Amino acid sequence: MDKRIMEALREERKRQQENIELIASENYVSKSILELQGSIFTNKYAEGYPSKRYYGGCENVDTVENLAIEYVTKLFDVKYANVQPHSGSSANMAVYRSLLKPKDKVLGLNLSHGGHLTHGNPVNFSGMDYEFIPYNLNPETEMLDYEEIRKIAREEMPQMIVAGASAYSRAIDFKKFRDIAHEVGAYLFVDMAHIAGLVAASLHENPCYYADVVSSTTHKTLRGPRGGIILTNNEEIIKKINKTIFPGIQGGPLMHVIAAKAECFYEALQPEFKEYQKQVIKNARVLADTLKSAGFHIISGGTDNHLMLVDVKSTCNITGKEAEEILDKIHITVNKNTIPNETESPTKTSGIRLGTPAMTTRGLKEEEFRKIGNIIALALKNKDDEQLLEKLREEVLQLTLKFPIY
Ligand SMILES: *Cc1c(COP(=O)(O)O)cnc(C)c1O
Repeated sequence: MDKRIMEALREERKRQQENIELIASENYVSKSILELQGSIFTNKYAEGYPSKRYYGGCENVDTVENLAIEYVTKLFDVKYANVQPHSGSSANMAVYRSLLKPKDKVLGLNLSHGGHLTHGNPVNFSGMDYEFIPYNLNPETEMLDYEEIRKIAREEMPQMIVAGASAYSRAIDFKKFRDIAHEVGAYLFVDMAHIAGLVAASLHENPCYYADVVSSTTHKTLRGPRGGIILTNNEEIIKKINKTIFPGIQGGPLMHVIAAKAECFYEALQPEFKEYQKQVIKNARVLADTLKSAGFHIISGGTDNHLMLVDVKSTCNITGKEAEEILDKIHITVNKNTIPNETESPTKTSGIRLGTPAMTTRGLKEEEFRKIGNIIALALKNKDDEQLLEKLREEVLQLTLKFPIY
């Protein structure tokens, strides 16, 4: 292997081992998933779908793609699945292109209120190709405001309503979304990228029971390889989705990733996975409570899921960007994040987003998350105390040493 590449790999392993990873969208996959993603399945071209390929020699990749579909439909109690999307964004592109015409009206959660770029941001294809109308969180409760969404839907009469978020710490009421969509004759599309693992463990309502179509990533709480999936109970819709994914927007599927996805769904069907997700939620509650006790405002007052948004500006008078940099110094990895009613630019922000999935995979429980909450609070409140930061950095190292990554 090239020395410089190997060096970067070695450094990355060290970084992953020695840092407390609190980025809410990241996780550590199992050894089996790592092995499959690095396997010889990467050598195989398999344009098409199982038993309908454009290449010979597909008998084994057909087996793994069929297994992926079998396991994922069982996991989410849904009839049909496409497991080929290269990412969450490609999955969303396929959903829009299957069900909408260019310039159709769509409702989506504002990016600065926790939505995703592919939910209509102007710099993203979604915002360029469709007429997205953003809905915001309620400024008082900092939660979804279903009456407000209903009002916007009735005024705008969109062709589709998108539910789902990248930085929302509360349970989403998919039934309410479905009722609104029915009322205005719109498709309901749920993007469960962040919460898929919780849904798989029956710790969050399953959107497949309410939505026309559901997309997800496989690499966040679901703890699989980097990729996307699309699910539906509607036979007409899956036919359209399959055509859009191939030959519409993708070529050959990443069979090594699909093999790893199959293993991810298999692992998520095991009883241990439910225990893991329960711990993810417990840890998030402890972290939120610890920070609240230290005087921080948690957006919406707390969390129902695996993540939280912390308003660092109102407590410490620092931006999210500064908070991210201070925590980087002591080897705690987080990301700056806009908060509802944001007053800073998206490159600075007033908040940080914290999530528990990755460190819960490493075995951390309530006791450790209480400790992490206290370390974060101390660091952010004493950002110029180099001696203290050095001490905290050492504490982080001692903690991570106890929980090896592989
Ligand atoms: C992460 C995420 C995506 C996109 O996933 P990528 O694999 O990064 O393209 C889409 N939607 C939501 C809500 C997400 O959180």
